[in-house]
Amino acid sequence: MTTATIPDYLDETLPVADRIADLLGRMTVEEKVGQMLQLDARDDLDDHVLRKHVGSILHTSPERVLRARELTLQTRLQIPLLVGEDCIHGHSFWEGATIFPTQLGMAASWDAELVEKVARATAVEVAATGIHWTFSPVLCIARDLRWGRVDETFGEDPVLIGELASAMVRGYQGDGLADPTAILATAKHFAGYSETQGGRDASEADLSRRKLRSWFLPPFERVAKEGCRTFMIGYQTTDGVPITINDWLLNDVLRGEWGYTGTLITDWDNVGRMVWEQHVQPDYAHAAAAAVNAGNDMIMTTPGFFQGALDAIAQGLLTEDALDRAVSRILLLKFEFGLFADPRLPDEARIASEIATAEHRALNLDLTRRSLVLLRNDGLLPLDGGYTGDAGGRALSGAAGPRRIAVIGPLADDAQTQLGDWAGGSGQAGWLDGQPRDMITTVLDGFRSFAPADWTVTHARGADVLTLEEDPAGAFFPDGQPRPQIVVPSPPDDALIAEAVAAAQASDVAVVVVGDVIELVGEGRSTATLDLIGGQIALIDALADAGTPFVIVLMASKPLVLPPSAERASAVIWAASPGMEGGRAIAELALGLIEPSGRLPISFARHVGQLPIFYNQIRGQHGDRYADLTQSPAWAFGEGLSYTTVEYDRLRIVDTELGEGDTVRATIELRNTGSRPAHEIVQVYVRDIVTSVSWAEKELKAFRHVDLEPGQIVTVELSVPVAECTIVDAAGRRIVEPGEFDLLVGPSSREEALLDARFRVASPAPKAVQ
Ligand code: BGC
Repeated sequence: MTTATIPDYLDETLPVADRIADLLGRMTVEEKVGQMLQLDARDDLDDHVLRKHVGSILHTSPERVLRARELTLQTRLQIPLLVGEDCIHGHSFWEGATIFPTQLGMAASWDAELVEKVARATAVEVAATGIHWTFSPVLCIARDLRWGRVDETFGEDPVLIGELASAMVRGYQGDGLADPTAILATAKHFAGYSETQGGRDASEADLSRRKLRSWFLPPFERVAKEGCRTFMIGYQTTDGVPITINDWLLNDVLRGEWGYTGTLITDWDNVGRMVWEQHVQPDYAHAAAAAVNAGNDMIMTTPGFFQGALDAIAQGLLTEDALDRAVSRILLLKFEFGLFADPRLPDEARIASEIATAEHRALNLDLTRRSLVLLRNDGLLPLDGGYTGDAGGRALSGAAGPRRIAVIGPLADDAQTQLGDWAGGSGQAGWLDGQPRDMITTVLDGFRSFAPADWTVTHARGADVLTLEEDPAGAFFPDGQPRPQIVVPSPPDDALIAEAVAAAQASDVAVVVVGDVIELVGEGRSTATLDLIGGQIALIDALADAGTPFVIVLMASKPLVLPPSAERASAVIWAASPGMEGGRAIAELALGLIEPSGRLPISFARHVGQLPIFYNQIRGQHGDRYADLTQSPAWAFGEGLSYTTVEYDRLRIVDTELGEGDTVRATIELRNTGSRPAHEIVQVYVRDIVTSVSWAEKELKAFRHVDLEPGQIVTVELSVPVAECTIVDAAGRRIVEPGEFDLLVGPSSREEALLDARFRVASPAPKAVQ
């Protein structure tokens, strides 16, 4: 009997380490360099696979995944490809997939369990289509609201970011890579990318190591230790060094202190940028050597890395050992996925049965409802005074409510815009220009479907937002990437405004949907102001004078600043790019079919000049206001109303004298004093009274979700380990400093909204002298 011999690397009975060693031993230097490359599948796939031996591709239309596989089978070793995509709030560029609210919208739910489910559903949809790797979640901490990528973040607080990012990573990675529905998660952008100057994308991030350790690194540390399989390295430089080659961050901290063994991928052309954009490397050979030597494993979209790395080896700047280390990490992922036996190609049956299932769409609706934040309400909402809160909230009597609603504004019926960035028509993928219209509910659709049948719903656009012009600097950047066009705000249009005012005046209530559009969101699309663009301010001004009570729905990727006339709106709802179910959830909220429950994961400024406006600022400035403006935010981190009133009372700390190993345990009483149910998010902050170095006035440490029926009183138990009551000292060490602390508990970060109770942490007992 003869046994066909297969190479060791294909022998599934062998340990993965042996299979990697065997395969490495068979690979040429060119194949190793290529294995480290991830190139854009929209370019020349034949060249990528057959000549550059790429290990991975991204931005892959469905047909291109299959073409890439055909090409892989023509290669000597037939090493399967890893296929990556930005599936960051759903399977963004798959036509007909479930598109959820953006990360910032998800964050407004403050609900890790829900976010984990969303990531799981996304992974199931993504995995069916032959994609193995999502470049999500974003762990950047939102700082300057002008930055175009605030929508991609979980907001401004490291604890909330850590909770939600951890949940998302768990959801994507499922039961581990052997699970056919698992995809690789990516913690990005490591680290400090969001500390922009003037909100300008990818500008130098002027960050001390202490500041990094205080706010920017903790969420990354958490997911690194929890097993997030990949990390993406940000674009920016810090202290003059591109993060791509920041030895301290990548090696001392990530690999060293945190013991991270996962795979590092650069961001888009980080290696090339060091040559042509940042001018810190003389050529591609030096740039390639620096990137590999700093520990990067996968090089995203720098085709010149291929020759650069080969030249670097020839010039002695780079060793083959360094390549082996990186290639091993990439191969490990492929072996753990089992791609050599099953390359996980698009699976028609799963695509048909697992994309946009009723269950995923229901989950999306759930999350979207939870993502809406009611910022103001003078009692006009909910619109149906006759609602009794029974029958799952589905039956509106319409008896006491308004009967005529005018749904107004440029975003009231703009299906693709409400999906936000990184979705369908947002421009990153060339193979689709939007998601199917019939899968998306706009606000107008929502009111038409959910207002009682005998109510009238009318519509007027009211304003245009912008037009685009070519950038005089040219249509392309030096690396050939398209340069975003320049925004030209549309002037107020008298005819549109007159039509909107007439619609409002013929109605009992006007709902005006304003905000930002995709041209004002994303990479290279930071904004200089936070104002509503185009004819939108004039529209609100006119509606404020029209005499009809009105509600503003701010459908905006990030916190914007409303004009003074908006003070006259009876209610304001923020819906952060709410995804496919947005219009339905907004209409349900306004009509009182659901209860408002979202809380701000980020503070809203009153004026762009208040930036930065995040709540946990370092104390110690002269005074607390500008000569011409308060510093208090329009709406603070954690805020959000319900349709009832909830009183917080009797904050009690169980034991106020604690040691470093103890846990602060407290109780607080919540009483629903209104007539509707509430979903409260009880927030627990800690203030360290005296610190050896300046520190934040207060920091979020924990939060609890609590449901309360009208009249119900609930005692909520709270706990914060003393070990988390830390500061970062002058040497950059995270420590607990014994002494007095305040536990602050309430419905938001606003000082006035918080109850406080004092506890004391004792100094550790001196060690006994022998
Ligand atoms: C972005 C990343 C993204 C990558 C791939 C980059 O420009 O910064 O967040 O994952 O492109 O599309």
